[in-house]
Amino acid sequence: MTPERFSKLLLMSLAVPTLLVFVMASVVAFEVGQLRDALGWVDHTDTVIAETRAELRRIVDAETGLRGFLVTGREEFLESQRESSGTAARFAKLEAMVADNPPQRQRLDEIRGKFENWIGYSKQMVQLREGAGNYSDFELNMTGKRMMDEIRAGFATVIDVEQALRDTRLERATHIDKDFKISLAGLSLLLATTLVLFSRYQLRNLALQYGSALKTAEEKAAEERERKQWFLTLLRSVGDAVIATNANGRITFMNPAAEAATGWSEAAAKQQRLESVFRTVKADTRERLENPVDRVRRLNAVAGPLDHRLLIRRDESEIHVDDCGAPIRDDDGKIIGFILIFRDVTRQYELERTLRTSEKLALAGRITASVAHEIHNPLDTVGNLLHMILIDGGSEHIAEYAELATQQLQRVHQVTLSMLNLYRESHAPVTVKLAEVVNSALALLEMQVRSKEAQVTCRFTEGSSVEGFPGELRQVFTNLIHNALDAIPQGGTIAIDCMSGGTQKQVNITITDNGCGIAEQDIPRLFQPLFTTKGESGTGLGLWVSKGIVEKHGGTIDVETKNTPGESWTRFHVVLPRQFPSLVSTAQALAN
Ligand code: ADP
Ligand code: MG
Repeated sequence: MTPERFSKLLLMSLAVPTLLVFVMASVVAFEVGQLRDALGWVDHTDTVIAETRAELRRIVDAETGLRGFLVTGREEFLESQRESSGTAARFAKLEAMVADNPPQRQRLDEIRGKFENWIGYSKQMVQLREGAGNYSDFELNMTGKRMMDEIRAGFATVIDVEQALRDTRLERATHIDKDFKISLAGLSLLLATTLVLFSRYQLRNLALQYGSALKTAEEKAAEERERKQWFLTLLRSVGDAVIATNANGRITFMNPAAEAATGWSEAAAKQQRLESVFRTVKADTRERLENPVDRVRRLNAVAGPLDHRLLIRRDESEIHVDDCGAPIRDDDGKIIGFILIFRDVTRQYELERTLRTSEKLALAGRITASVAHEIHNPLDTVGNLLHMILIDGGSEHIAEYAELATQQLQRVHQVTLSMLNLYRESHAPVTVKLAEVVNSALALLEMQVRSKEAQVTCRFTEGSSVEGFPGELRQVFTNLIHNALDAIPQGGTIAIDCMSGGTQKQVNITITDNGCGIAEQDIPRLFQPLFTTKGESGTGLGLWVSKGIVEKHGGTIDVETKNTPGESWTRFHVVLPRQFPSLVSTAQALAN
């Protein structure tokens, strides 16, 4: 179920009952209003009746008071008559109360008129009594009685009409009350039924949606489990060693290859810190190396190996390893663990070492031959000159012979010096002037250059230098020039160009020859060890070693060549950074 659908359902579940309750409350409020209205009218009628009766009582009292006065002649009896002085105001009030009923009003008006007449009559009677008149005259008294009878009858009618009104109004109120109760019961029943039906519908709907959501989640979980299983099986069966850790660097998984490489079983290694199981030291200095997980965490990226590492196994034996670490991230990109993949490269390392040794031996052999030749020629000349000095004793040429012999010995000195420089390799990179390195390589190859009658041209940008190991770089140029010499025909040309790169952070060196070129199918294999087209006379190690040296200096080497009939040439490009790559910069390069 989508969140929108769920909110809609929830909204409906609240809105519908609220609406129903609101409707019911409105109906109830209306009915209560009606009932209150009706009861108000009943009350009003009651008040009118009570007030009318009170007024009647006062008038009757006034009449009684008049009689008492007439009989006794005492003033006290007239008190009630005096009290009835507010009658006008009370009549006005009564009339206002029945303002909605004009006939009643009319009746009250008439009664008031009659009462006012009676008051007149009463005053006349009082005067008669006080003035010793004939106040007991029968006719006079009968007039008073008739007046009072009419007033009483008027009041009786008013009260009767009000009484009848009251009954009608009360009946209406009772009706309303009954209707109210019935409609309340009906509405409650309707509300309850609607709510039950609606809630049932909503719940069923919700259950249905929930069920389908649950099913989807279960399917997803099963898929996830299957994928995890598949992934674990895959990891267990790969040839490379794989170790996974949680975000804190504690081991959570190890495949059989990792068990074999480290000597730890997965069960024993689980929850151990990675550095206790994957203990590595730098192969040459044996210094402890940064834990791969820490390095990946620091670089926040996949990190390959920086140094040649030795892994110390659980039984303290050692193997050479090549490793690569990567962070494991969740969907939000947060690191939730690390994975370390490594392989035992001991055999490969041993093989490379053997190959390097043989390349060095071959190179040493070649150098020895050139050196022997270089030394042999001047020494031969020196021998001849000494012989001539001995024969020619006292001749004027002696000084000239001695000078020549000194020159030849200087040449010998130069050759032996460059040999010494080749082996006196420093441990740290130094500033290497490329012109010097190329010239010393050419000096070593002078014999071959001469015998091929090669035209060698060198062009150097002023002060082209890089940081590195001079002996190793010399070996690169010796190999490349040597190959060029092998490729060119007699009298061929070799051009060595050395230019500062555009960014000024690197130097480009090209060695171009007009030799036989390289067949297209050989190009991919050029830099592989032992690939040679020279049979017995080649080792197939020169380019491979050169590539290794160039890459150690943080540079690149590649080739461009043509070998179509009529046009053939080869150009090797070597690009060297001016700065020898430090650990930090290599790490940065890897992180990028
Ligand atoms: P080697 O010189 O002992 O054969 P290298 O590794 O130096 O071994 O060279 C490998 C091969 O590359 C050579 O055998 C040759 O076929 C080819 N090669 C290298 N440089 C040149 C070049 N300048 N011109 C033509 N072929 C070349
Ligand atoms: Mg070679």
